[in-house]
Amino acid sequence: MPGSTKQSQELTSLTGVGPALAQKLHQVGINQVSDLLFHLPLRYEDRTRIQAIGSVSLGDVVQLQGEVVGTTMQFGRRRSLLCMLRDRTGLISLRFFHFSAAQKRTLDEAKFLRCFGEVRRGRSGFELYHPEYQILKDGEQALDTQQSHLTPVYPTTEGLQQTRLRKVVDQALSRLDESGSVVDLLPTEITRRFELESLRSAIQLVHAPPADAPLQWLSSDSNPGQKRLAFEELLSHRLCMRMFRREATRLPAPQMHSGEALIKPFLATLGFTLTGAQQRAFSDIDTDLRAGHPMLRLVQGDVGSGKTVVAALAALQVIASGLQVALMAPTEILAEQHYLNFQRWFADLPVTVGWLSGKTKAAQRKVTLAALANGQCQLLIGTHALFQDEVTYDKLGLVIIDEQHRFGVHQRLALRDKANQGNLNPHQLVMTATPIPRTLAMSAYADLDNSIIDELPPGRTPVNTALISAERRDEVVARIAEACQGGSQAYWVCTLIEDSETLQAQAAEATATSLAELLPNLSIALIHGRMKPAEKADVMARFKAGEIKLLVATTVIEVGVDVPNASLMIIENPERLGLAQLHQLRGRIGRGSVKSHCILLYQTPLSRLGKERLKVMRESTDGFYIAEKDLELRGPGQVLGTQQTGLMTFRIADIQRDAALLDDVKSAAEDILQNHPDIVDPLIERWLGERIHYVNV
Ligand code: ADP
Ligand code: MG
Repeated sequence: MPGSTKQSQELTSLTGVGPALAQKLHQVGINQVSDLLFHLPLRYEDRTRIQAIGSVSLGDVVQLQGEVVGTTMQFGRRRSLLCMLRDRTGLISLRFFHFSAAQKRTLDEAKFLRCFGEVRRGRSGFELYHPEYQILKDGEQALDTQQSHLTPVYPTTEGLQQTRLRKVVDQALSRLDESGSVVDLLPTEITRRFELESLRSAIQLVHAPPADAPLQWLSSDSNPGQKRLAFEELLSHRLCMRMFRREATRLPAPQMHSGEALIKPFLATLGFTLTGAQQRAFSDIDTDLRAGHPMLRLVQGDVGSGKTVVAALAALQVIASGLQVALMAPTEILAEQHYLNFQRWFADLPVTVGWLSGKTKAAQRKVTLAALANGQCQLLIGTHALFQDEVTYDKLGLVIIDEQHRFGVHQRLALRDKANQGNLNPHQLVMTATPIPRTLAMSAYADLDNSIIDELPPGRTPVNTALISAERRDEVVARIAEACQGGSQAYWVCTLIEDSETLQAQAAEATATSLAELLPNLSIALIHGRMKPAEKADVMARFKAGEIKLLVATTVIEVGVDVPNASLMIIENPERLGLAQLHQLRGRIGRGSVKSHCILLYQTPLSRLGKERLKVMRESTDGFYIAEKDLELRGPGQVLGTQQTGLMTFRIADIQRDAALLDDVKSAAEDILQNHPDIVDPLIERWLGERIHYVNV
């Protein structure tokens, strides 16, 4: 902590803390005294008052006190010791399944005791199982008045008891008033403007809330201490990303001119006109590319909104200016789809498109790498392989990342560095395959400018979604036969919980076989991730040509596949997938002019949460709404994918609970960058400390 003396920060300078306890504290991330102040409780317990036994209800966590009216052993399925406690209002039992002979004896002899625990329903009515208890001597029944605040319960580790942890935190708190123990970095004008507690009072409030504060104070957004700390933490994260962005965008980057020479003929052969939203997104990009500093832009748009065309325009502009473009996708199949698309789109243009993946054979690889190094290959499409060590670009001007929530923030940053060959700072365009909830975009992507494609190409009809239980599978199969006889095509998507391509492939194979038996007159084919690229391409081509009517697939078709005549999709066990993924899958239909239907064939029984999630799918086709719901139901880690959470794991803040702070955090960050640049580093140091290396890759 800045401003504090080293010595007074040593954990062992606290009373009762020796090397062994210090070691335990290290295990929970506490390395110095001030860390204790930022080691925040998980919840609170109220030990400030004694509740009347007659007033307790199920699930309450209570402190009770009374006369011991008897202890008995009970024998049943499990032996237990029962101790009856009475006050003027009622009777309750304390039940112990594990107890020593000595414990039994002291309870037998006890006259009065005070205990603390959760009220459960037991054999004798309300009971406390294994409460903490304290035997009282005569006359000791008054509650000591020291407990004027709620008792914090801290995250801890084995062998580190709450009571010891509380004692050391208390000592750290009592040092709060020593000058310089913890510096309030935020200027008064900021704390005043955003109605924030001072740092000291915030720390006090969070560790020792007043007795009349609600026990749920920590999980609510009304704890002013927590608000201040969460605000400061979010602010520090945002400052970190803004600083990174600032440094990156200060560098010189190749200045592009108009790409007309390539863009005009491209648009002429495209077969459709750009939507207004596509034009706006490209115009943002065009401005960035001409600015002479690296572009850092995120293009968001719902499934099927046409992000790929926008990426193609950006690529052409850069290629027309004499530089190279790399387009990276998270999966082989998506990368392949892009490759096929761009090859087709650019067929009549003087543009060479290359392909590189981890599976590219050595001989082909050599050719591609040579063409890249001498500048002959202008657009390279592939997976992570694009940024491996042996890959050198001649003049890389733009990196396009189709992200699909799979690249981590730090991975993205590392990549930017890697792309930084030959002293050129390439422009960067990130496309997300699924919309990102605003709150996540504001925190995880604060280093990027944002363009939103909020309009679908014309002629789409919204997909109708139905929830049908697997018990009615026969009806669904009949419906496929009917639809296909009527000239439509259908997808049957198999899902598995395991992320194993082999298992997925096996499950899909079994389904395809059984469907073929049920529908002997239908041409059915199978596609999955274990098939060779040529086989997959062949199946897709035949499906696209209408030769195959029913395509049984694993979730590989989640992205990239585009067959407008397919108007029916059955997703088996949809409860296994995230909403964003279901939305992606469903986006494969509804691309033509006929009404499309998506059947979510769920397994019974469905959990309450599962039901709720599938209902969201039935009720909405709006990717942004679905993403918000997904976040609400599953939390940010799940929605972004674990890799992406590098910068998203907060100590105190919670993106959902504290969502309302984000706008203020944003404006406070700009204010501080402008007017108080000197506190930026200390704030980042305080909150991101050792994690900072992610950002400075
Ligand atoms: P996504 O945003 O999901 O990546 P794509 O870029 O794959 O969407 O586009 C989805 C489909 O819509 C593609 O077949 C694409 O050719 C088509 N498309 C894109 N833009 C338009 C447009 N302006 N008008 C008509 N069709 C379009
Ligand atoms: Mg796409």
